[in-house]
Amino acid sequence: MIIVSACLVGVNCKYNGGNNYSDKVKEFLKDKQYVIICPEQLGGLTTPRKPSEINKNNKVMSCEDEDVTENFIKGAEESLKIAKMFNCKQALLKEGSPSCGCNLIYDGTFTGNKISGMGITAALFNENNIEVFSEKEL
Ligand code: SF4
Repeated sequence: MIIVSACLVGVNCKYNGGNNYSDKVKEFLKDKQYVIICPEQLGGLTTPRKPSEINKNNKVMSCEDEDVTENFIKGAEESLKIAKMFNCKQALLKEGSPSCGCNLIYDGTFTGNKISGMGITAALFNENNIEVFSEKEL
């Protein structure tokens, strides 16, 4: 069983109320069993919501300087709960997200600059021996 970022299969859970649907993801998942999650919604944030980034102090801040770290941690923990419930060994997650990014995240300055790093949920999955990979790696 694979756990998948819900926005990648077309669920409108993205911060702006849209999604990140990908034909490549659909093709990859067509003969597999999977469960979808949106950690930011599971952490209690609304959709739409303000975009957030992880800053250099490892805090997750919205673009309006609101500290949403607790929401992101809660979302990661709830996502891990679901991953364990379904015995997921792999996670296909949206690259670049402060929750789901597997290799890259925005640098916390809201200038569009990306740096190496993992989102909060991707990092928690990784620590719990769930192999994380992004849609960019398909
Ligand atoms: S938190 Fe993850 S699943 Fe939810 S919209 Fe962001 S990238 Fe997609």
